Amino acid sequence: MVDANQTFVIVGGGLAGAKAAETLRSEGFTGRVILICDEREHPYERPPLSKGYLTGRDARDSVFVHKPDWYAKADVELHLGQPAVHLDRAGRTVRLGDGTVVHYDKLLLATGSEPRRLDIPGTGLAGVHHLRRLAHAERLRGVLSSLGRDNGHLVIAGAGWIGLEVAAAARGYGAEVTVVEPEPTPLHTVLGPELGQLFTDLHSERGVRFHFGARLTEIVGHDGMVLAARTDDGEEHPAHDVLAAIGAAPRTALAEAAGLALVDRADGGGIAVDASLRTSDPDVFAAGDVAAAEHPWLGTRLRVEHWANALHEGPAAARAMLGREVSYDRVPYFFSDQYDLGMEYSGYAPPGSYDQVVCRGDVGKREFVAFWLSEGRVLAGMNVNVWDVTPDIQRLIRAGARPDQDALADPSVPLTELAAG
Ligand SMILES: Cc1cc2nc3c(=O)[nH]c(=O)nc-3n(C[C@H](O)[C@H](O)[C@H](O)COP(=O)(O)OP(=O)(O)OC[C@H]3O[C@@H](n4cnc5c(N)ncnc54)[C@H](O)[C@@H]3O)c2cc1C
Repeated sequence: MVDANQTFVIVGGGLAGAKAAETLRSEGFTGRVILICDEREHPYERPPLSKGYLTGRDARDSVFVHKPDWYAKADVELHLGQPAVHLDRAGRTVRLGDGTVVHYDKLLLATGSEPRRLDIPGTGLAGVHHLRRLAHAERLRGVLSSLGRDNGHLVIAGAGWIGLEVAAAARGYGAEVTVVEPEPTPLHTVLGPELGQLFTDLHSERGVRFHFGARLTEIVGHDGMVLAARTDDGEEHPAHDVLAAIGAAPRTALAEAAGLALVDRADGGGIAVDASLRTSDPDVFAAGDVAAAEHPWLGTRLRVEHWANALHEGPAAARAMLGREVSYDRVPYFFSDQYDLGMEYSGYAPPGSYDQVVCRGDVGKREFVAFWLSEGRVLAGMNVNVWDVTPDIQRLIRAGARPDQDALADPSVPLTELAAG
């Protein structure tokens, strides 16, 4: 039973945490809601940090999840700039960095993830950057703008989403860009080789240089300044700045020290939760990037590091904390914008899980939908510069549809007809 004397604590003031707080109130919870975040900023959304905010198109104010006065109006007690440093599950308390101890009846861990670090000589130089926080984006914005002014070189380690989006932004400022990536195409482990090539072409046409099949081994500097970046095949790329965009790791330290069940790093890592987002402790929940949730119909445990997942899992966890029945079963979804290319991806089809890729539309013009299939069944779909098709793609995936492949490839056949069939 939930009553007005109870206290619900949320650790992590990102999108998942802020949306969970909002949902607790919109679902009628009248007890205390405490939101703890180690960042000094009010909760904000991260996608603009590598897109509109980085390019200068979006204003700083536009990134925040709620207006600053929303928290007081919603009676959400916000502790900013305060890390939660200890979780005592037996005593049901969380200790903050300043020594404050808060009691909880239910706890949500929405601690997100943090950038992986390059473990090579030279990473301490001033021109080596990561991109996770608003402050990182603010700094990088200044860096890109001066690189553009001075014909400077940016080397990006990693051709994942963040690496590619920053490459696009950097070219927009006029910076020289080299992307170093161990795999043979960008986004290899997400899209496979077939669609990875699309992103190689997109960026190469705009002057980005790729160095595939190589890793950075050293960032060479002088007087604290970056001069070059070396790779394991002996090449040296001129560089004034380096961005490490080599993925993120879930922030599980608090959960681990408290003895909550975790998932092995080899299996994606994160805090293990069931489909109701409950951890191995029935009073503790997890949502967003940090949560590895059992997916009811995919039949696997998934940790999804994407905006839509944080947006929906936060509220789902809040409802579960309130004792509602929750089974989080959304189709995984993400989006990206690079130059004039916008895309959305729905589903889950890592390399090895599919045996065929079928495209409908004009791949050359970059206006198409790609489908990943296994024995004819649609596992995932990506629409590129084609809009308002995500619900239809997701319906095909959920239905486990095995559409006729000529019809699937034919843009004149509505996707709704395929879903119905
Ligand atoms: C640059 C960038 C661009 C992105 N672009 C896209 C995109 O285009 N499309 C897409 O789908 N996804 C994108 N993402 C991913 C998306 O932003 C994340 O999936 C989302 O932010 C996850 O939200 P979250 O609330 O789970 O975690 P986070 O946003 O990481 O928030 C967690 C918060 O908890 C805080 N915290 C952690 N530990 C503690 C502690 N012990 N005590 C107190 N506070 C703590 C963290 O500092 C952080 O503020 C992008 C991510 C980045 C970094």
